[in-house]
Amino acid sequence: MAVRPRRQAVVAEVGGVKMGGNHPIVVQSMTNTDTADVASTVNQAMALARAGSELVRVTVNTEQAAAAVPKIVDTLDKFGVRVPIIGDFHYNGHILLKKYPECARALAKYRINPGNVNIGRKTDDNFRTMIEVAIENNKPVRIGVNWGSLDQALLTRMMDENSRRKDPKDAREVTLDAIVASGIESAKAAESYGMAREKIILSAKVSGVQDLIDVYRALAAVCDYPLHLGLTEAGLGSKGIVATTAALAPLLLEGIGDTIRTSLTPAPNGDRTEEVTVSQQILQSLGIRSFTPQVTACPGCGRTTSTFFQEMADEIQTYLRNQMPLWKAAHPGVEGMKVAVMGCVVNGPGESKHSNIGISLPGTFEEPKAPVYVDGRLLVTLKGNHIVSEFIHILNDYVGSHYGAPAALSTPGEVSEPAAR
Ligand code: SF4
Repeated sequence: MAVRPRRQAVVAEVGGVKMGGNHPIVVQSMTNTDTADVASTVNQAMALARAGSELVRVTVNTEQAAAAVPKIVDTLDKFGVRVPIIGDFHYNGHILLKKYPECARALAKYRINPGNVNIGRKTDDNFRTMIEVAIENNKPVRIGVNWGSLDQALLTRMMDENSRRKDPKDAREVTLDAIVASGIESAKAAESYGMAREKIILSAKVSGVQDLIDVYRALAAVCDYPLHLGLTEAGLGSKGIVATTAALAPLLLEGIGDTIRTSLTPAPNGDRTEEVTVSQQILQSLGIRSFTPQVTACPGCGRTTSTFFQEMADEIQTYLRNQMPLWKAAHPGVEGMKVAVMGCVVNGPGESKHSNIGISLPGTFEEPKAPVYVDGRLLVTLKGNHIVSEFIHILNDYVGSHYGAPAALSTPGEVSEPAAR
């Protein structure tokens, strides 16, 4: 299925990053450090940015966190990491934004959850206060509905209205309608308080794959605000990755979505940047954006009895990823390069010919040699104990000659210092 034309959303700008219209779909992430801990939050935000996160969200839940935000933004800037930092507010955002004006100024966007800001209450409209602060500071907002904290007054009203219908909908349908209504009514309220339409981004996250698809299709049909996609509480490991991909892929293929996040639960002491890699991989697998050269590797089988083939595929993919911060600037277009690392000659040469560069390793009982194909033609056959390093030299030469200036050579396993962005 080809990707359908993008739904034409209004273009919003968050700290210099544009989203909506035909701008590239933006990858974002969120820290899980205590925001009051400036050093930890800076380190994680830096790691997320270097992994390719184009926006980074931090929770702003306490006075200490609000006080830390300007220091975090300032420190990132001193390190040359200019990723926009977004504040995630719940319950007390109106108080923190008012009491800590430097925090309000330092953030690139405020995320507001309409389910916990007493929206529309005559005496206590905290939502309005936050919108007024955003207008004062010329900041965009994301109105982020989450079904775990859905506006209960709105849901009750819609359930009551539904029960009076001749042909009432089931509770699931009414809940999904209420999620959409919460986002749209909040955005309209923000506009009525003076917020420009191009300063509003919407999201409506649920944790069920089919529910998410239904909610976003409905949202996309009734508004032209840029949409932030994400499956909330996606979960751990492969379950989280598969569920997020299953939810986001149909929407992205339909042209719905202007920015995405993968909400993975990391393993204890796990790498937070995995959520960035997964988001990039979703977009690249769908042919929507390219971030890093892709390695096509076969799954291996009884013909690949040693682990050499898996190790080589992993080493090449890691090498390519580590080179990208350097290559991105020096060799534009390299992110679209395709590399095949195949386990034997059954499908190896065929797959190699479909890639820019491909290698077929010797399978069990095959002659110990590895043919290398470049642009569909056999270039050389490698033998001996240095197949990986020789293949990487061929890769570097190819990058240098096909994507701008020659690539700096480095040996496999050497991790290059990523450039700050
Ligand atoms: S290419 Fe060779 S090693 Fe890889 S899965 Fe196919 S038969 Fe097995």
